Amino acid sequence: LTNDQLDRWDRDNFFHPSTHLGQHARGESPSRIITGGSGVYIEDRDGNRLLDAFAGLYCVNVGYGRTEIADAIAEQAKQLAYYHAYVGHGTEASITLAKMILERAPKNMSKVYFGLGGSDANETNIKMVWYYNNILGRPEKKKIISRWRGYHGSGLMTGSLTGLASFHNKFDLPLSPILHTEAPYYYRRPRLDMSEADFVSHCVAELEALIDREGADTIAAFIGEPVLGTGGLVPPPQGYWPAIQKVLKKHDILLIVDEVVTAFGRLGAMFGSDKYGLEADIITIAKGLTSAYAPLSGSIFSQRMWDVLVRGTDENGAIGHGWTYSSHPISAAAGVANLLLVDSLGLVGNAGTVGAYLNAAMRDALAAHPHVGDVRGEGLLCAVEFVKDKDSRTFFDASEKLGPRLAAALLGRGVIARAMPQGDIIGFAPPLCLSRQEADIIVAAFTEAVNEVLGRP
Ligand code: PLP
Repeated sequence: LTNDQLDRWDRDNFFHPSTHLGQHARGESPSRIITGGSGVYIEDRDGNRLLDAFAGLYCVNVGYGRTEIADAIAEQAKQLAYYHAYVGHGTEASITLAKMILERAPKNMSKVYFGLGGSDANETNIKMVWYYNNILGRPEKKKIISRWRGYHGSGLMTGSLTGLASFHNKFDLPLSPILHTEAPYYYRRPRLDMSEADFVSHCVAELEALIDREGADTIAAFIGEPVLGTGGLVPPPQGYWPAIQKVLKKHDILLIVDEVVTAFGRLGAMFGSDKYGLEADIITIAKGLTSAYAPLSGSIFSQRMWDVLVRGTDENGAIGHGWTYSSHPISAAAGVANLLLVDSLGLVGNAGTVGAYLNAAMRDALAAHPHVGDVRGEGLLCAVEFVKDKDSRTFFDASEKLGPRLAAALLGRGVIARAMPQGDIIGFAPPLCLSRQEADIIVAAFTEAVNEVLGRP
């Protein structure tokens, strides 16, 4: 196929996710056709080699072109491409992977339910929370608290959990069992004279007030990412998670920790729950489970929840919840090969050390720029937030499209980052195999891009 043919077929046939549909259909934005990748680099059809500093959608954690995973996928496809997991069926790959996940997960976790992506895993989680409360004879304990700026998926329920306006507006979301509370976003605290400790107390007070208003006996669970991801790559303020967990325990509210981005090393720890001392009832995993070589997600349930869930099947027969592709053997084989690579390449440690290096270098290069309000990160997550005025932290006018312009200027220098969906925030989440030299390339290219778009300070 010629490039022109591909371009036409793309516009004629393909409904792209998260894309400006009208602009793309009219040919006002380019079709970007990616043809290959190796390490932290991808190539497009025009022969450009681009450093992917967002690892796809923060998912290609081991980097591109890993033949170990490709071979495992091919072997599994040749031996047995598919069998379902209903009524106790399994494959060597899926059983092995479940064991490997539990060996790496926090010690209180007990069983893995496999799905395909983060959204369907969080749907499973909500259903299992409701199932759990039904078994315990308290069906009215049903509402779920999420945070503004949280991201938990794009489905009806998971899009409702997501706390970003563009995922609600025009879709008639959020659905009624979903409530939102304050984001732990210290840079955007309500009053600048608040210390970090004051702000944590404020977040706790907001949560307590919501629980009081609704009634604790109507609230089933709280869901949160260890570090806010798509909402702006925001690490929590010191002491946030212990304080929130205390409230949840007091009111017998389950904790769902959404580790779709953070599990398997991104924060320099195997799980974000390890890093922040979280004791989850359910952990959501996806992305880094297979490094996106094949679609796979999981919901990991605690022993405490499992002890109740298992009673449900005794009373009611088989649980009425299943996907055709749950624990798909090809994806499971990719997961096994991927987790072995994460270990053998030492990627959890590398994310910690190179992540600290990247964050420090980004801060050194850009923190003093008059339009850089905040440089923040944890492990191999790094965000730079731009403001019109540094003292008042005012936003640039949305019509200026500063985020997309900065991302485009960076792309012009051969580096891919993401303009996050809310605010002028550029996010970096490279593969966990990033080297210091590659971190230097990212920082140098971004500094030039910022100077080009906003002027040299
Ligand atoms: N949860 C988190 C924290 C995510 O970042 C994402 C996707 O980015 C999801 C859930 C949804 O995952 P998926 O896009 O695989 O449905």
